[in-house]
Amino acid sequence: MILLMGIAGSGKGTQGKMLADQYGLHLLSMGDVLRMYVTGRQRERMLAGELLDDEEIISIVDKVLESISDKEGIIIDGFPRTIRQAEWLLEQVKSGKIDLKVALHLVASRKAVKERLIKRARIDDIEESIEARFNEYEKSTIPIIDWLKSHDIKVVNINAERDVNEVNKDLARYISKDVPA
Ligand code: AMP
Repeated sequence: MILLMGIAGSGKGTQGKMLADQYGLHLLSMGDVLRMYVTGRQRERMLAGELLDDEEIISIVDKVLESISDKEGIIIDGFPRTIRQAEWLLEQVKSGKIDLKVALHLVASRKAVKERLIKRARIDDIEESIEARFNEYEKSTIPIIDWLKSHDIKVVNINAERDVNEVNKDLARYISKDVPA
């Protein structure tokens, strides 16, 4: 399993799709799965850029993973986003259910990604929601990166401010090295 992490607009979704197609991997995009699953108040929270409840997220990831037999060839975009989610993931690794190869961290500044988000024009890509997701990234994702490192998970920082194909080439180096053919 490979984790793709990064600030909103850093290209997690795009790069995840490209890599999954190039290497024939499963792709679990948390945002896409949630956009299919959630309704009502949860959906409003999502649109406002707030994180959804940990136990609900974990239960969804658990169900998706249950349905996949080849757990090595999977890229997850957007999980874990809290320490609780990271702890759960590590429990799965420790119990041998998951083989976690590497966390690829797409690094880009707020300024660099804001333009991209505004151009993308998804319904949650409005000023307030963008700010909320940026803050969430700093508050939640950054500490998780450190937490993963302190638990001996390999984390690689990738400069995601570059052209999409350059970033892809860089990421691919880690995929081909880490995923068995
Ligand atoms: P994304 O497409 O990854 O930017 O995710 C869109 C929205 O889905 C986020 O702003 C959150 O509201 C929700 N979401 C995605 N992944 C998670 C997660 N791992 N934990 C909690 N909420 C999440």
